[in-house]
Amino acid sequence: MAHHAIEHTFATPLEVEPGILRLTLPLPSGPKHVHCYFLRGDDGWTLVDTGLGLLEIPWDEIVAQVDGPVVRIFITHMHPDHVGGAEAAARATGAPVTQGRLDYAQCERVWGTDDWPERIAKWFTRTGVPPERAQEMIESGHVFADFVHYVRDPTLVDAGDEIAGWQILATPGHADGHLCLHRDGVLIAGDSILTPITPAVGLYPESRPDPLGDYLDSLRAIAELDPRVSYGGHGATVEAPADRARDIAEHHADRLDKTEAALDASPRSGYEISHSLFGRELPPIQRRFAVAETLSHLERLVVLGRAARGDDDQTLTYTAA
Ligand SMILES: [Zn+2]
Repeated sequence: MAHHAIEHTFATPLEVEPGILRLTLPLPSGPKHVHCYFLRGDDGWTLVDTGLGLLEIPWDEIVAQVDGPVVRIFITHMHPDHVGGAEAAARATGAPVTQGRLDYAQCERVWGTDDWPERIAKWFTRTGVPPERAQEMIESGHVFADFVHYVRDPTLVDAGDEIAGWQILATPGHADGHLCLHRDGVLIAGDSILTPITPAVGLYPESRPDPLGDYLDSLRAIAELDPRVSYGGHGATVEAPADRARDIAEHHADRLDKTEAALDASPRSGYEISHSLFGRELPPIQRRFAVAETLSHLERLVVLGRAARGDDDQTLTYTAA
């Protein structure tokens, strides 16, 4: 994409309310954009999230438009479109990066090791993905690896900590170590609640066992917190976050019902069940999400006693309870 197009379309932070600027950066696929935020504090600005590490993001120019220093960079979660530009943003601002403890451990495991594709391949095989499909799903999932330039040894934080008067909340689900910021009724939500899209909640290897259970708890916590407004990583500002949290929970309750209805007495893998739920014809990247999403719903059903997991050591299978 042309450099000038990005400069003029994307490189200007917009004030969404006093002291909060939104910077929208391009993505080559998916929702095609990601939002980052500048939060004004007593000691300077906090930049939340960094987009992908694409060479054409003019960070120097972006930072020059923010009045005052950027004193820290905060990462909501380790997905490529949020952490990928951290190195470039840190270089342009001179600011240190702050990241959640669990999130950083997973960030290193996925983006900082050479054997992740191999480990995920083994896991896909266990979930019933045929070997020839597994390879293309892994490649499509790792396509952004070249654009992930996270910062090593960041300042580690946990839920309950504060930065610049913002309270750090753990909102696992979309990612195990996902964090949000909350202050004065404003939620900086990362990908915990979005509109109009619904955040993906998938089961992946070496992660928490029931991500959908985690996510439904996070949605409940957001509804109870009842913020005035929520600014997320993609899409529109959420004007009624508690309502949106309840809507998304409803969507998953619905999908849990459909997943349960797709089960019978014969053991089938997550891969096979994903065909019942999401159709047979999907490109590899979509199939990857479909399998992960199907598994997160199946594991939730197992926890609820609404499905049974069989495990012959080769392939994970599920049946009606
Ligand atoms: Zn995202």
